Amino acid sequence: MQRTACACLETMIQAFDSCPQKVEVFIGPGIGSCCFEISRDLISQVNKTFGNFDDIINQNENHCTWDLKKTNQLMLVQKGIRTENIYDCHLCTSCHPGDFYSYRRDQGITGRMGAFICIEN
Ligand SMILES: [Zn+2]
Repeated sequence: MQRTACACLETMIQAFDSCPQKVEVFIGPGIGSCCFEISRDLISQVNKTFGNFDDIINQNENHCTWDLKKTNQLMLVQKGIRTENIYDCHLCTSCHPGDFYSYRRDQGITGRMGAFICIEN
């Protein structure tokens, strides 16, 4: 399971002596739990990896979805980021085809998005 946010934070701590309590996180557009349907096989892997996180998997008889944004938020809080320092734009890329690419919605035939971050000295 990819843990990019935590890897970035760990690099910031090691390279720049960043204090997790002072780090602010912005969660940009990404696929939301409304659209990130996963197989039942993947649920066991998610639970094995993130079993201590509540409410990241939603399932009923027909569908299982995974809340990636909430998973990232909970991982970052575990690493010392303050909940009030995490900002989520609440935009699902799959729900907004006119604004964002979505690999999953477009079944792999789509564009790519990028983001930039910086550290102020
Ligand atoms: Zn959506």
